[in-house]
Amino acid sequence: MPETAVETGVECAIEVADLDPLLGALRERGFTVMGPLLRDGAVIYDEVRSSADLPAGWTDRQEPGSYRLQRSDSPRLFDFTVGPSSWKRFLHPPALRLWQAHREDGGFQVVDVEPPPPRLAFLAVRACEIHAIAVQDRVLLGGPHVDPAYRARRAGLFVVAVQCTRAGATCFCASMKTGPRAGAGYDLALTEVLEAGRHWFRVEVGSERGAEVLAAVPHRAVRPGESAAAERALAGVAEQMGRTMETAGLPALLRRSPEHPRWSEVANRCLACGNCTMVCPTCFCTTVEDTGDLAGRTAERVRRWDSCFSAEFSYIHGGSVRPSIRARYRQWLTHKLSTWHDQFGESGCVGCGRCITWCPAGIDLTEEVRALQASKRRKEDRRADA
Ligand code: SF4
Ligand code: SF4
Repeated sequence: MPETAVETGVECAIEVADLDPLLGALRERGFTVMGPLLRDGAVIYDEVRSSADLPAGWTDRQEPGSYRLQRSDSPRLFDFTVGPSSWKRFLHPPALRLWQAHREDGGFQVVDVEPPPPRLAFLAVRACEIHAIAVQDRVLLGGPHVDPAYRARRAGLFVVAVQCTRAGATCFCASMKTGPRAGAGYDLALTEVLEAGRHWFRVEVGSERGAEVLAAVPHRAVRPGESAAAERALAGVAEQMGRTMETAGLPALLRRSPEHPRWSEVANRCLACGNCTMVCPTCFCTTVEDTGDLAGRTAERVRRWDSCFSAEFSYIHGGSVRPSIRARYRQWLTHKLSTWHDQFGESGCVGCGRCITWCPAGIDLTEEVRALQASKRRKEDRRADA
């Protein structure tokens, strides 16, 4: 039974066996719990029904263009970094039927055919992903044109963060100031601790809803020394990151570099496959497809994720305004790291590293940025010498 009062801002502890009661408490409150699972050789997010579904004893190894799961000799449940799935697919789905119309009595009846979205709880949201959700909130909810489908899914979302106790070779959230530690934007945040033969979780309570859910789960006050053990589990994660990005002056540098020869070099490697945009947790672009049956009785409009890497994406009567891969890669990188600031007041990149890992050509945006910055420094040195 619960041993301690729970309120926002307190730290408690739960045992590993108490994860199932936590999942149960969320389900009792009407949430469908999405979390990490092993599928098709990767950690992806889908419905989690019990803690037995979690990828216990698995970890991942990521490099540019490479992702491998590995067995670990640890019983840890969350010993991996981010995989190809992001939470975007539940809040801003890859395909969504916007409406369907049926011919009736000489006219058309338009009907809403999508069922109401489930009430969602996300389990194991990392710090960079909390920031990615906040970026999408600004894009899809923040302006005068609110996306009703996103709003319906986002409303009432319950977030269980899991603090990162390791970082991958393609991670760079520390550079983007979006991690590795989640400091806000969650209802509950778990830190997995495996030390001196004990396996348990520190739970930070981030909201009244989080406190209410945790109160229904066996929990206890953090004992002397346990906070320090949790902090040891988190220590050194920023230093483990395999990538960094210097962001000072970057928006202006990208604005000034549309004709830089580096765009042609990267375009020689880029396949324009769009993988980077599909895995990116902040990319939000969509297209719409209208279809009708042959008898002309039913028509519908489906919204699908789209990618600025396709020629069709920027097709305006008569042709594409970005006919070359060079122009498309430049558009993607410049939007993410420069003009996103003008539109939304922040970067469009949270440093999750997915676009590096899942690029079949191993193109690494941190390397592309470094090349532009190095070329700027060389130019400045030449000017100083002159
Ligand atoms: S641009 Fe790449 S590193 Fe940045 S948020 Fe998107 S997928 Fe992650
Ligand atoms: S940068 Fe990589 S993932 Fe993105 S379109 Fe080019 S080849 Fe595909």
